[in-house]
Amino acid sequence: MIRENPEVFCAEVLVANSNADLLIQQALEFNPNAVVIADESKYQQVKSVLQPKDIKVFAGTKAIEQIVEMETVDMVLASIVGYAGLASTINAIKHKKQIALANKETLVVAGELVTRLAQENGVNIYPVDSEHSAIFQCLAGEWENKIEKIYLTASGGPFRGKKRNDLLNITKAQALKHPNWSMGAKITIDSASLMNKGLEVIEAKWLFHLDPSQIDVIVHPQSIVHSIVQFEDGSMKAQMGLPDMKLPIQYAFSYPFRIKNNFTRFNFMDYPNLSFEKPDLDTFTNLKLAFTCMNKGGNMPCVLNAANEVAVQAFLEDKIGFLQMSDVVGNTLEKVPFIKSPDYSQYMACDKEAREIALSQF
Ligand code: MN
Repeated sequence: MIRENPEVFCAEVLVANSNADLLIQQALEFNPNAVVIADESKYQQVKSVLQPKDIKVFAGTKAIEQIVEMETVDMVLASIVGYAGLASTINAIKHKKQIALANKETLVVAGELVTRLAQENGVNIYPVDSEHSAIFQCLAGEWENKIEKIYLTASGGPFRGKKRNDLLNITKAQALKHPNWSMGAKITIDSASLMNKGLEVIEAKWLFHLDPSQIDVIVHPQSIVHSIVQFEDGSMKAQMGLPDMKLPIQYAFSYPFRIKNNFTRFNFMDYPNLSFEKPDLDTFTNLKLAFTCMNKGGNMPCVLNAANEVAVQAFLEDKIGFLQMSDVVGNTLEKVPFIKSPDYSQYMACDKEAREIALSQF
């Protein structure tokens, strides 16, 4: 996105978890003021290359949390995956940085707290998640008009059409092959299990101030219609395009403007048929669990997320099977006590407790 619009955007800070080589490569290309590598064992490696180029180098998760405070930062692209992204996003909001939100877990875990903080600090949260970006784009110019309903589209993932019996012996290699989107391991597994859509349902509730009854999911295997808003007069607006995250990222940064780019254009002849079907909640029980958690509210989505992070990790380490992931999540949800309006420390405690309960199951 920056490479496409170097006269409009620049990177002030770049952050990476442990991929020092890519961080160095990007820093050399985009020349940020500073970089942070979460993995402290990579600090010397990064520093030895970037410090001579006058780029400040920091390490550790605490440094990520702090670097968002920098005065020269206008906007933070929150794209650390999972619960791990919560602290830095909250700190950025507290320091009145606009947020481009790719980390859906932030709103799943603590949506009430995060949206309240954003409001108090005059911060806008611009969705980067493609479905939510689609809804946001459909809402441009419609701020006065009430939403009747939104339809989040789901690709259905690599196992669409399969039944529970077909999924007993799924390998992680199969689950990591997403038909349309190229993404990190965690979100790819979440897409295969439909937990990703469950998390997005909760994310949508907070982003667009919706009642759970206004949110529906429709499976759309081609991933061209990115989501749909239905207004009170029955009119529906959809946003379409090729499945590529560059556009949602750019729109979050350029809003309310659209910026010319050379991203690949959609060709109708490549997609003569766009199809839609109901999600299979009996096979993909994660989606059902997520709807239940959204309806219950309180700390339940936080438990859902924590248990799921543990389950996905265990699946990626070949410790549990594909279907077992939703069993772990379901069991954990039954064991953690309900809290109606948790504060930040309660969310942290709840996340920890849920992880321990989830871990104890395999
Ligand atoms: Mn998405």
